[in-house]
Amino acid sequence: QAVALRARSVEELYELLETLGSGHFGVVRRCRERSTGTFYAAKFVKTRRCRGSRRGLERVQVEQEVAILRDLQHPNIMQLHDLFTCRAEMVLVLELMRGGELFDFIAEKEMLLEEEAIEFLEQILLGVQYLHGRHIAHFDLKPENIMLQEKDVPKPQIKIIDFGLAQKLEDGVTFKSLCGTPQYIAPEVINYEPLSSATDMWSIGVITYILLSGLSPFQGETDAETLSNVLEGAYEFEERYFSDTSEMAKDFIRQLLVKEPQERMTASECLVHPWIKPLNRKQAAKRCRSSINMKNFRKFNARRKWKLSYNMVSACNRLCRMRLLCSPRTEGEELRCCESDQEEEGSRPVTLLRRRRSSCS
Ligand code: ATP
Repeated sequence: QAVALRARSVEELYELLETLGSGHFGVVRRCRERSTGTFYAAKFVKTRRCRGSRRGLERVQVEQEVAILRDLQHPNIMQLHDLFTCRAEMVLVLELMRGGELFDFIAEKEMLLEEEAIEFLEQILLGVQYLHGRHIAHFDLKPENIMLQEKDVPKPQIKIIDFGLAQKLEDGVTFKSLCGTPQYIAPEVINYEPLSSATDMWSIGVITYILLSGLSPFQGETDAETLSNVLEGAYEFEERYFSDTSEMAKDFIRQLLVKEPQERMTASECLVHPWIKPLNRKQAAKRCRSSINMKNFRKFNARRKWKLSYNMVSACNRLCRMRLLCSPRTEGEELRCCESDQEEEGSRPVTLLRRRRSSCS
């Protein structure tokens, strides 16, 4: 369905139901289209009323998210169904993800073979390959943005969500930005160097590492330490966490957590790596003998959920404080914020700016 700006109100056409989640700039609610009875997710985003206002997102930013989403059509990418706009708010009516986050789904399992984890990873890679093929980079790949359409089905379908930081990459135009979450961002983001689709591939390396071990490869005691670990490329496969991991899986991660963006595997290369597409029976068998460190993964996930709820409460205060740490912007430069990984109020992020280019509402 073609997505057009609607003059009518969202409530005229959709019945608004319970809240599904919330982001920095509004809530996401389940809704039912009155004419068809179909369920969707309505994402309400507060936009700035006037140029000087510090509340909400710049309208042009939401329009950019919409412009990217409306052109995307892939089984592993969440789809935009409808759009409403008024002076202080935009409402994106999105395909409903009933299955929750992938990491929560996995954490409920007794055990998971590498082979089963690969089925999910392959879907993430297919979605990312599609995006990169259209010169779009997501720039915010992390567990919270990987959801399942349904979970009580034999083969749950992955959907990548939240295109709030996504960018269309133009040939010959350099894009630099300080955005993302310290645990998942690539060295070039921290160094404020040009970003590309390879920036997403680093995040996929981090997600895979966590998925297999329940350990975050660069996580430090503070955000500053995490960022410094990323810059040094300081990670290892600690035997006690990776004892059940195949060598092919480690090789896959090694080819993504490479400092030089051009040397990282692309999504298409990942899809033909022998860990994902075994060349022979021996390679395939290794994936069935290796498994995910479920005990540690569950611990990681519980801690992640705790941090997310903590962050929701303290985000506004912290982000407003962080604004004060920002160096003045030079004209034409885009400075955006990294979301803190730290729960400690005292651990101040060093080079981090705002999560998005706006303050919280
Ligand atoms: P952030 O502050 O991380 O940028 P955001 O404002 O861009 O967030 P989203 O990440 O898109 O908002 O959504 C916030 C939460 O709402 C998600 O983490 C998820 O729990 C829920 N959510 C978003 N989209 C959907 C969807 N299509 N179906 C079901 N739940 C959704």
